[in-house]
Amino acid sequence: MLTQNLGYPRIGSHRELKKICENYWADKTGYKNVLQVGKNIRHENWKLQKEAGIDVIPSNDFSFYDQVLDHSLTFGAIPKRYNEVILKKGNSELDLYFAMARGYQKDGLDVVAMEMTKWFDTNYHYIVPEFYKNQPFKLFSTKIIDDFYEAKQLGITTKPVLIGPVSYLLLGKEKEVGFEKIDLIKNLLPVYLDILTRLDSLGVEYIQFDEPFLTLDLTENEQQAYDYAYKQIRKSFPKLKIVLATYFEGLGNNLALTLTLPVDILHIDLVRAPKQLDHIISSLNDKIILSIGVVDGRNIWKNDFESSLEIINKAIEKVGKDRVWIAPSCSLIHSPVDLDNETDEQNLSAEIKQWLAFAKQKVAEVVTLKKLATNESPASTTQKFEANKQAIANRKSSALIHNPAVKQRVTQLKPEDANRLSPFSLRKIKQQALKLPAYPTTTIGSFPQTAEVRSWRAKFKNGTFTANEYNTLIAEETAKAVKWQEEIGLDILVHGEFERNDMVEYFGEQLDGFAFSKNGWVQSYGSRCVKPPIIFGDVSRPQAMTVKCTTYAQSLTSKYMKGMLTGPVTILQWSFVRNDQPRSVTCTQIALAIRDEVCDLEKAGIKIIQIDEPAIREGLPLRRADWQTYLNWAVNAFKISAAGVEDETQIHTHMCYSEFNDIIQNIADMDADVITIETSRSQMELLDAFADFKYPNEIGPGVYDIHSPRVPKREEMITLLKKAKAVIPSEQLWVNPDCGLKTRGWNETKKALIEMVEAAKEMRKTE
Ligand code: GLN
Ligand code: ZN
Repeated sequence: MLTQNLGYPRIGSHRELKKICENYWADKTGYKNVLQVGKNIRHENWKLQKEAGIDVIPSNDFSFYDQVLDHSLTFGAIPKRYNEVILKKGNSELDLYFAMARGYQKDGLDVVAMEMTKWFDTNYHYIVPEFYKNQPFKLFSTKIIDDFYEAKQLGITTKPVLIGPVSYLLLGKEKEVGFEKIDLIKNLLPVYLDILTRLDSLGVEYIQFDEPFLTLDLTENEQQAYDYAYKQIRKSFPKLKIVLATYFEGLGNNLALTLTLPVDILHIDLVRAPKQLDHIISSLNDKIILSIGVVDGRNIWKNDFESSLEIINKAIEKVGKDRVWIAPSCSLIHSPVDLDNETDEQNLSAEIKQWLAFAKQKVAEVVTLKKLATNESPASTTQKFEANKQAIANRKSSALIHNPAVKQRVTQLKPEDANRLSPFSLRKIKQQALKLPAYPTTTIGSFPQTAEVRSWRAKFKNGTFTANEYNTLIAEETAKAVKWQEEIGLDILVHGEFERNDMVEYFGEQLDGFAFSKNGWVQSYGSRCVKPPIIFGDVSRPQAMTVKCTTYAQSLTSKYMKGMLTGPVTILQWSFVRNDQPRSVTCTQIALAIRDEVCDLEKAGIKIIQIDEPAIREGLPLRRADWQTYLNWAVNAFKISAAGVEDETQIHTHMCYSEFNDIIQNIADMDADVITIETSRSQMELLDAFADFKYPNEIGPGVYDIHSPRVPKREEMITLLKKAKAVIPSEQLWVNPDCGLKTRGWNETKKALIEMVEAAKEMRKTE
């Protein structure tokens, strides 16, 4: 029996990667330093896993920005528009790579970034490969080979991890018509073979192909591509030990196909899809090794050894000890790095901490489970087993977790509690009292969280600033932002969210039932990390959360100040959620807390309130068959949060980079008066879903990309707005950026918003 890991967090235990990359982008450090930090992180990770006793350790799981982008660079899938970046003197491969990720605007060159989207149903985002008809592929970057060699030099023969050829293609997007991306498999496969040849000559033993698409619905063509690709690989490399990694769902109706693929080790996710085990062990041939993912790679709860052992023993019974491996359910990049860094009792109490495990602890859990299953070193392992049992039992009965009043409020909810008083057609007329111009302009909420603003918060948290000093500074920053928004002529203002570290954490900190780590960062995209709150107990709102800052901002202006809240589904989705009750129940508890806040804002005179729900779509189950159940409770939770107000109060919602086509009915069911969405990177393509559906409520399609520092031109935004106007009646349209501006600098933000307001004015002239 062996243990393996599928991937380890690469941000560094103190976010070293984020810091060095951001310094490099700001021209504050050199290229060599970036490479060095990357190297240090890789070495640390390999050593740690080795010392913990993991048998099969991954490489190529490190990435400077995103592993899918790494593959595009590896395969030479580089869109032509980056040629100028490549040709520019002094630019390195890393500069090209970051240009693809973030766009490039320097010394007269101006190239937009590649699209970004969510990684399955996680909060990780990847850079979408761009595909063209008959596109050739060739080995461009040798990173995977270099990393394998680097580990080998340290005495560790790693298992290089590649996204499998079929999944890589399915992750991408066709950029022209007349072909299907999966048709590119024949062009792509030779690069895989080239890579394997090179790894082979360096002494590779195991290779891991991630094929998460095997857990989704597949077309005939895609199934054939699997068959073709893996047979080709096997033919060229008869001795290579291939790990086929599936995760995030069960194999379902792809099981038969999967079992025909000539691989040596099949990894399955038994956290997300525990029921698949029986079926799989009874269908396996007598050679294949089964890697069972029993340690949750996507949540922070301590593994329940007793129930894991039941699963492991069942597998052993059926296929034998030698053919069972133990592993986390998926790559650990979705877990925070190290619980040992949480040393502040005030922050994360010992009682809660004993229920948790981060990546480093999960690696240890995998090893302990193997020892327990094989009866190795019994004394110390038995001790660990006993401690584990105790922690699990304590969590089940802890008084910290259960609040009867909250549970009762949820069970007493009536269906009508989720509905506004009148339908939108009527509310729209009542809301005309707001007297907004055509193409009203607004922003999505946050303004730049400058280093200065963040340093105030840090000083407040470490006691250097009193609450008074901190609040005064935040108030001044808010006042400046309000004044500036008035000056440039935005119609609906925001307070800027300067007091918020993060749109979920900020609310979680004020709600009961939430706990926080100090250092539990998880990569979201590129250098962006999030520190998800831990929902451990019943959720309630002890007091108003945003009324003070919103009414203060409103007092500074005669324009409307938009209240700014995070919706229940997003709070749920971006937190580590308790696994001892259905997610729908936890979500409804949060919805009631947000509802109370919405009502308090209204009472305080706020006329427009935005409830952000960027995470609705990413919560969709991966299999279609499970969608409706989720959408029912998720949409209902949003509606509960919004429905406590009068018709005159305008409720906005906001969503980022989503495809809306297949859930447009549900988006309409949410019944927000105004929805703002991200559309600029897709050139308004995403708006078509709303147009085709004849979406009745108002809509603000984002007119510029906020993920890139690039300043858009007025004409670009006008072009986009004209595109929008061509498909959506202009009286329904709003003008806004794609998303919040907290990751941007003031310089580019000011330039961009001035242009945006002018673009809206131009559009009004056409009415
Ligand atoms: N109001 C939030 C902001 O502007 C919305 C962010 C989001 O949708 N991700 O930052
Ligand atoms: Zn957004």
